[in-house]
Amino acid sequence: IGRHGGQRTTAGFEYNGVTFDDRSVNLFAGLCAVDSPESVDAMMAALAGCGITTTRMGAYKPRTNPYEFQGLGAKCLPYVFESAGKHGIKVIAMEVTHPRHIDEINDALKKAGNSTGVMLQVGTRNAQNFELLKVIGQQRTFPVLFKRGMGITLEESLNACEYVASEGNPKIVFCLRGVKTHLGDPHRNMVDFAHVPVVRRLTRMPVCVDPSHAIGRAEAPPDGLPDIFHAIGQGLIAGASMVLVDFHPTPEKALCDGPQALRLEQLGALQRYTNIVRAAY
Ligand code: PEP
Repeated sequence: IGRHGGQRTTAGFEYNGVTFDDRSVNLFAGLCAVDSPESVDAMMAALAGCGITTTRMGAYKPRTNPYEFQGLGAKCLPYVFESAGKHGIKVIAMEVTHPRHIDEINDALKKAGNSTGVMLQVGTRNAQNFELLKVIGQQRTFPVLFKRGMGITLEESLNACEYVASEGNPKIVFCLRGVKTHLGDPHRNMVDFAHVPVVRRLTRMPVCVDPSHAIGRAEAPPDGLPDIFHAIGQGLIAGASMVLVDFHPTPEKALCDGPQALRLEQLGALQRYTNIVRAAY
């Protein structure tokens, strides 16, 4: 990841026609958890309407509570990839929690036979699942979105990325998603986007921010923007080049993290906001 040898020379990479580097801004707006073909298709259609070719789709959900919705797993992959192909989506960020999921994704992508690609997401709860990290590092097919571990130091999270890179896969984007504190409200986590320049200084990884999991609530004051927008602004101004953000066609019916999901009608505004902030960067 560029730490042992120092210089930030070759930051970034290209995958499936999408560039991940310091100059790009990739908006990965999508479903935290896939719940139906209709939600997926509505989301992909909204993205296509805005000319966006990247998204997030959760099939394998690492839930804190075993009695809550665990994700649809491999059975939703065929319609996720079919819809992505139909709407020209190039890269889908998708969390995997077990090595078997990588094979399932590979198989489903091959069956779909279109030009969609996947970025393997390592969730905060698996940040130190070293065996999973090694397997993800050994495969060369997919790039990786690594989410900062909860309850561990930044240094420990960067070392976890070395587990992926040292196995042979240097295509890693580092994602800040807020840190857990004992302080509670007003947000789900404490926004840690001031660490964007720190990660950029210490490594050659492009940096992503996830304002949805950091903030945890999508509502806006009557005269203002949702805090999620402000957090994105902070992340982009600090130098992030990728944004992971939750949307849902009907957030009140979402099976996972509905309160933090933006509505599809807000996608255009978010895209404009992102462009304006980035132009000022
Ligand atoms: C997610 O992005 O769906 C997720 C579960 O995030 P995190 O691992 O950051 O909690």
